[in-house]
Amino acid sequence: MSSIADVLDRLTRKGEVYTGAEKGAVRCLACGHRCLIKPGMRGVCQVRFNEAGELRVPFGYVAALQADPIEKKPFSHVTPGETALTFGMLGCDFHCGFCQNHFTSQAMRDPASASSIELIRKISPQQMAEAARQARASAIVSSYNEPLITSEWAAAIFKEAKAAGLKCAYVSNGNNTPEVMEYLRPYLDAYKVDLKSMNDKNYRQLGGVLQNILDGIQRVHEMGIWTEVVTLVVPGFNDSNAELWEAARFLAGLSPDIPWHVTAFHRDYKMTGNGDTDAATLRRAADIGREAGLHFVYAGNLPGRVGEYEDTFCPGCNRPVVERRGYRVRAYRITGEGKCPHCGTVIPGVWTREPGEVKLNGAGLPLPMY
Ligand code: SF4
Repeated sequence: MSSIADVLDRLTRKGEVYTGAEKGAVRCLACGHRCLIKPGMRGVCQVRFNEAGELRVPFGYVAALQADPIEKKPFSHVTPGETALTFGMLGCDFHCGFCQNHFTSQAMRDPASASSIELIRKISPQQMAEAARQARASAIVSSYNEPLITSEWAAAIFKEAKAAGLKCAYVSNGNNTPEVMEYLRPYLDAYKVDLKSMNDKNYRQLGGVLQNILDGIQRVHEMGIWTEVVTLVVPGFNDSNAELWEAARFLAGLSPDIPWHVTAFHRDYKMTGNGDTDAATLRRAADIGREAGLHFVYAGNLPGRVGEYEDTFCPGCNRPVVERRGYRVRAYRITGEGKCPHCGTVIPGVWTREPGEVKLNGAGLPLPMY
């Protein structure tokens, strides 16, 4: 029987986001690790490798494909009520103990995830665009595992998506580089970053460096790509007032218009000793976000238990302009020009020009495509 590495190594092509180095080595530029990879060796993510002086990168398959409510990404300021065809592959450049997608993200590291090989489906970029059409999606999103490590595949899909009039987005750990963002710039409309902690020691445990993530968030925001940030609030890991204040102040310092989602953790994967996040903790985190000056703070994963923190309020007159429950949009009042209908304040985001067509009270559920 083929190993997962054998199967994945066949589903590759020559990469584009790298440079050559001495003695046949290559320098991968797709994520902040910037791996120097010698011939025959792999990068930290395990799925990009040096074959005879050439970087091979994942291409031509998905390991998950769903028609998701765009609220599930979560994006609260990108075309509410619409469907995002969302795909994932295998592998990650981090190894978070609380990963909620560990079955796919840790496939190359964790023998317990090896049967994820059965999820692989070969597909072409053209078929992906067709799947989006069938799902009536208005966006294609790379998510579930870390999209940066498979950016050449995402770019090929996004080219087709753009030609079909679709929006394109990443759901990422934010460990990006200037080079990969320039490569993706022509395609990306929106980018969600997980800001997992403000403590570098915590980030090192997960396989990252805090400063790279802070720089990554700033880079995406300054490039003009619509940016939303999520912090999974894990009791005992990152839920102290001091750390939440630090995260909120950092984001507010970049722009008070960056939406911040604080979401509830549930025991998962290797992090089973910490309790689940309760609604009071989530509200405390959200209150800190507002006090720090952020205009748009959302509390996620506990629908119906976090009061007004599921809704969008106009920063001008404080009236609700989008009301939600979980992944369902219950009321939508933003005008086709992206403004508050009451006071005319511009609500930052990527909004539909046809507010009358926003789907209200939909199923709010993901739909697997195979
Ligand atoms: S994507 Fe990141 S982890 Fe993977 S090879 Fe490139 S630099 Fe290394």
